[in-house]
Amino acid sequence: MQVNDISRTKSAELYEKAKTYFPGGVNSPVRAFRSVYGTPLFIEKGDGSHLWDADGNEFIDFCGSWGPLILGHNHAAVRENVMRVMQKGMSFGAPTALENELAELILSNNRFIEKLRFVSSGTEAVMSAIRLARGYTKRDKILKFEGCYHGHTDSLLVKAGSGLVTFGETSSAGVPKPFADETVVIALNDEEALQKAFEDFSGQIAAVIIEPVPANNGLLLQTKDYLNYLRELCTLNGTLLIFDEVISGFRVGFEGAAGYYDIKPDIITYGKIIGGGLPVGAYGASAEIMDHISPVGSVYQAGTLSGNPVAMAAGIAQISELLQPGFYDKLNAKTADFVSDIRSHVAEKGYELEVFTIGSIFWFAFTNQVSITRADQIDPESMLKFKAMHRELINRGIYFGPSGYEVGFISAAHTQEDLERTKTAIFDSLEIVFS
Ligand code: PLP
Repeated sequence: MQVNDISRTKSAELYEKAKTYFPGGVNSPVRAFRSVYGTPLFIEKGDGSHLWDADGNEFIDFCGSWGPLILGHNHAAVRENVMRVMQKGMSFGAPTALENELAELILSNNRFIEKLRFVSSGTEAVMSAIRLARGYTKRDKILKFEGCYHGHTDSLLVKAGSGLVTFGETSSAGVPKPFADETVVIALNDEEALQKAFEDFSGQIAAVIIEPVPANNGLLLQTKDYLNYLRELCTLNGTLLIFDEVISGFRVGFEGAAGYYDIKPDIITYGKIIGGGLPVGAYGASAEIMDHISPVGSVYQAGTLSGNPVAMAAGIAQISELLQPGFYDKLNAKTADFVSDIRSHVAEKGYELEVFTIGSIFWFAFTNQVSITRADQIDPESMLKFKAMHRELINRGIYFGPSGYEVGFISAAHTQEDLERTKTAIFDSLEIVFS
């Protein structure tokens, strides 16, 4: 069934104004809706699983602020803790008991790290983890994977050229070539490429950084065997293994991907969920590795607003909810049922579409491939179908992130009724996309 385009009058007005203030009218590029139809929607408020834009359109939200909102929008426990703490002041630049409280909740429920350091974003967590790995190993090179995003740190804004192993080429102007030269990029899930990189740069690689659940270029689920092999080669070569769990941390389970695959990395980075919707990141490792950070160690890292009390309050409230018995079982089962119903419908209709999923993450890939583990397996042309679907979904009150390379998130706030409505909207949209 065809439906009309929603009204975007107010959003369009705000966007015109914003373009005079910010490059492209936004403070983070994907928000500009360049990969989908229409003006970016300016959001007015969120509550539970729902969002409202400036024109009063209501949506069921599957973007969840790009991952942090595992409890949904404006969760009462998070809001109340933030408001309680805010009344005592917003920043002191001095230690508070709240930092201990959040660290205790995390560390006493995580087998993989012994100490951590709070920062204010995922990018900062990754940047600091890389510096720590370099300082610890006294080596300079890092190895990353094509299709993994680790924030906008200079040495990680690089992509692979051709061939099995290449030096990175910068993905952004302003990244000096010598920085990119210290970054080796290979394809995901390719044991041969990994082995060759360790041979070619023997004794030089400080760290391998991977999203163990790569979720920034589609959902490129790795095999457990591959991740184990990666762990093994890092150990053999004296290279630190960094799991970037900015998305997967507290998402695929409380212990993130490390717990899910039962693999112990040397350093883990967190962001998004850890801050309950406020700006928090963290990196953690064994006490022995972490004690290389200043003021005890020689690797410098600092932050005016690190461990900010209001942000800690949001993190404490959200993380406490995740520790309730059965939290993940319920959320993951709800997601699995949702995905399974969509898959059955797709199979019945014979559409060229796969839905990949892990935990409460899902990704729609317009393909017939039953497994996609590497970035180069995604056909850019297939994104046109996502673009068409996105328009239909927005018009039916369903908000997905505005790019076919982005994953969707289900939160504890999504009700069965939300998911039934969403499935109907998806089925109707797909009928139009494939007509
Ligand atoms: N690492 C991963 C895996 C991410 O997905 C992101 C952001 O999406 C980052 C790092 C950077 O985090 P932030 O945007 O908080 O700087």
